[in-house]
Amino acid sequence: MIDLASKDYVVIVQCHIVKERCPGYFCEQAFHERTGGFAGYPADKAYRSLYITCGGCCGRAVQRKLTSLTRQLEKREGIGKDRIVVQLSSCMTKDNFHGPPCPHLDYIKTLIARVGLDVREDTRISDLAEKRRTDGVWQGKGCDGET
Ligand code: SF4
Ligand code: SF4
Repeated sequence: MIDLASKDYVVIVQCHIVKERCPGYFCEQAFHERTGGFAGYPADKAYRSLYITCGGCCGRAVQRKLTSLTRQLEKREGIGKDRIVVQLSSCMTKDNFHGPPCPHLDYIKTLIARVGLDVREDTRISDLAEKRRTDGVWQGKGCDGET
């Protein structure tokens, strides 16, 4: 169980391929409103945040990006790894309009663990997308089920 109140810095990792067409608004909105994968974050705490992509299949760039980030945060602001949490976007973790979950999800989580960071799944989760997952239907367009 990750103590989210003890975190100060949230890194949202998004699918590089999906981000070729998605601005990432629904991820940002979910974080702002503390919904979906962000429901566990205290609403009254202000977090620093950064949005990055996996760098493309197979996601290996995540390790280099996060290693660089953790070094900079420690060096410049004294923010240690224990105060950082990584959140994987729903387009990576869930079946959705863009396709099935990332085939490299476990690999990417392993990379993040090797960097020494806590990692969580999901960002935007819509009721419509949940219904489509249940029904096995993907005829809409947009993020995690928006039309
Ligand atoms: S979860 Fe949705 S908003 Fe976030 S990056 Fe993926 S497609 Fe875009
Ligand atoms: S590794 Fe996964 S998250 Fe990254 S671009 Fe490929 S499918 Fe998307």
